[in-house]
This record gives sequence, C-alpha cells and structure tokens, in this order.
Amino acid sequence: MKDLKVYKKHDGQKTIVKVKNVTFNDGSFNLIAGPCSIEDRKSLEKTAQLIVKNGGKLLRGGTFKLRTSPYNFQGLGKEGVELLYEIGKKYNLVTVSEIPSICELELFIEKIDIIQVGARNMDNYPMLKELGKIKKPILLKRGPSATIEEWLLAAEYILNGGNDQIILCERGSTTFETYTRNTLDLSAALAAKKLSHLPVIIDPSHGTGRADMVSDFTKVAKFLSLDGAIIEIHENPDVALSDGFQTIDFKEYEELVKSLWKL
Ligand code: PEP
Ligand code: MN
Repeated sequence: MKDLKVYKKHDGQKTIVKVKNVTFNDGSFNLIAGPCSIEDRKSLEKTAQLIVKNGGKLLRGGTFKLRTSPYNFQGLGKEGVELLYEIGKKYNLVTVSEIPSICELELFIEKIDIIQVGARNMDNYPMLKELGKIKKPILLKRGPSATIEEWLLAAEYILNGGNDQIILCERGSTTFETYTRNTLDLSAALAAKKLSHLPVIIDPSHGTGRADMVSDFTKVAKFLSLDGAIIEIHENPDVALSDGFQTIDFKEYEELVKSLWKL
C-alpha cells in the first residue's frame, strides 16, 4: 500500500473542529441530520424539533441544489438559507448546507455554521482557496471519483490558506455497481482517519443511495470510531422533493439515535 506523504505533516496532534456547542475530533460521534433539500418552513421546523427532542445538535438542509437534471427541484436557494438560519437560531442547532459556488460565499459566511463543499466541488480549487481564508468550519466531501490522496490534497488547499476547521466526509464513489447509487468506501474513511489530523465522517445516504442502509452504516461509523455521519431524514420520504429513496423517516431516525446511545 502506497504511503501518502505528499500532504503537510503535522505535529501529531489531532485538529479539533469546534462550532458553537459541537466539537469534532474529541472522540464524540456527531450525527448531522435533515432533509436533502429544504422544502418549506413547516417541514424544516418539524425536523428541527425532532432533532432537539432526540438530543441532536446539528441540522443539515440543501438550499442551492446541484442536480443532475435542470428539470428537477433546484432548492429554495437564498430563501432556503434564510430559513435554515432562522430555524437553526430558534432551536440552537448548528447548521450545515452546501455552497454551490464562490458567488454565494458572503451569504454562507453570514448565515451558515458549517459550509459544505459537495462532491461536485471537491476539486474547485479557486473556491477551496477562498474557503481557506475564512474562519468557518468546512465539511469537505470526497469527489465521486477522487482518490484518497486527491481528497486530502483538496483539504490542503483550505489548510494552506490558514483555515484548519475542516471535516472530511466520505460519501461514496462512482463504480460499476448499480444496486447502490455510489459505493460507500469505508476503507477510505479509515485511511483518512489514519493519515490525516482532521475529523472524518461518512454520508451513508449519498454513499449508498438506499434508505435501508442508512441506519446500519451510521452505526458502523460509530463502531469504527469515526467522528460522525451526515444523513437525510424527512417526515415522509415518499414525497420528499429530492433523494427520498435514500432518506429515512422520523421513526427510523429516533430508533437510530436510541441505538447509537446504546453502542
Ligand atoms: C448533499 O449532501 O446534499 C449532497 C448533494 O451531497 P454530495 O455532494 O455528496 O452529492
Ligand atoms: Mn441528497
């Protein structure tokens, strides 16, 4: 196995990522949950209430959706960002949303707690450089066909600018397989954990594209001592405006949280 030595060595210390009342890389397991896309205030508020009731601290929500087809729901855009900001504040939840391009940087700096760089933007180097200049945590997804080395080097672009608040996220690669949407690469998550000083989480929703695998892989992530998972939840996944097929409902979410406590 090739030893990756290309990225900057550190002093052996882990980098703690801290935002409000949430800490990554201190041994805790952080579950980030919420809809693929924010649809309206009512459903986002219900999701926030469910998360708070179950002791959760982090709320995800897609705002500017980067969809394969331009005819699919594109997200609420700026209105979605405002909703996430308001609901996050009201329920004291740390918010996570994907930045679509450098043009939305000011808006995201002002309104979002953890800025997600989606898989499609992992190698958007001009954007990574800009994110290196800010002081906000960045959730950096691995690109669908990026090697571990390319993923870690993408993180270096942010680190080099002076921002070390980065959470790495394995979200599955494009492979020959069709039963699953992507092939969730747990070995990459473990490799990143071993090679990097940064916290590492997985996204079993996009990583498998199958609701029936989300809870099990989230439990596996905790078992593997990873730093958390980001999952899609919805009150009624059958009518979700995006990614319902990989989204678990509220009841399953509650069961998952209970079993994570037991682990
Ligand atoms: C998402 O988390 O909403 C998303 C689109 O993920 P990815 O960039 O991994 O496809
Ligand atoms: Mn999604």
